[in-house]
Amino acid sequence: MTPPRIDLHTHSRASDGTDSPRGVLEAAAAAGLDVVALTDHDTTAGWAEAAEAVAVTGVALVRGTEISTRVRTEGGSISVHLLSYLHAPDDEVLRAECDRTRTDRLSRARRMTDLLAEDFPVTWDDVVAQTGDGATVGRPHLADALVAAGVVGSRDEAFATVLHPGARYYVPHYAPDTVDAVRAVLGAGGVPVMAHPGAGARGRTVSEATIADLAAAGLAGLEVDHRDHDAEARDRLRGLTAELGLLATGSSDYHGTGKLNRIGENTTAPEVLAQIEERGRLDVIRP
Ligand code: AMP
Ligand code: ZN
Ligand code: FE
Ligand code: FE
Repeated sequence: MTPPRIDLHTHSRASDGTDSPRGVLEAAAAAGLDVVALTDHDTTAGWAEAAEAVAVTGVALVRGTEISTRVRTEGGSISVHLLSYLHAPDDEVLRAECDRTRTDRLSRARRMTDLLAEDFPVTWDDVVAQTGDGATVGRPHLADALVAAGVVGSRDEAFATVLHPGARYYVPHYAPDTVDAVRAVLGAGGVPVMAHPGAGARGRTVSEATIADLAAAGLAGLEVDHRDHDAEARDRLRGLTAELGLLATGSSDYHGTGKLNRIGENTTAPEVLAQIEERGRLDVIRP
């Protein structure tokens, strides 16, 4: 028997992916995956539909969320994405934080749209038209509206130009402090894993000392194998997981057609998933 293939980080239209939650499981099945985690940004809205698709697709589901957080530094902050696996969706503290982030993401998207509208033929209705019902709104939706308006040719081009944090149209959004978010995830019975810790192209990355502080606060793992990490970054991060006693995961960060990431392009070892399931409050939903 070949070992199960496990991808622990994907997005659906509940945030900024282009597939429905069911579509993510169908894509996972087509790619020969056995287990997939649905980890939409700051929401659990896609969980129910994904859970319903387990039996038909034969793909097991890990319910998760990618939580937007920030590490405060002198002279600013660093954006950190924290994956939470198998947490109770009704935990009040974690839910309140995610609600606050989603609400602020909405006003932030409107403000960015207003700024973009000063120079480009794009309106808030255009952005809404690109965003799934009740979805967590993000820059990818602004990018899609700009592509539809013919301002840029692709999401990638939008991110490299007008949506870049250095662009005059960029507005940050609220996000909880990373240590607080790790504690909130643990309080909700979840397993906190830092997403793409070495993805330097997205902006500044946190230091090893910060990762050690997060580990002391209860961080369970690092997403080592990810497309945004080169071989050197993966080696360094794998070394860090060994040093700090953390789990090492791997995943695609699939966004449907919105990014080049192919589902299943990086995977997580079955022993690591077993550890996550043992620590998490919810079970993996199996066919
Ligand atoms: P936001 O959280 O709204 O600031 O937007 C960040 C989101 O955009 C993350 O989910 C990324 O996965 C996504 N993203 C970052 N760079 C790109 C890119 N070049 N093309 C498409 N999506 C991207
Ligand atoms: Zn995303
Ligand atoms: Fe991320
Ligand atoms: Fe992601």
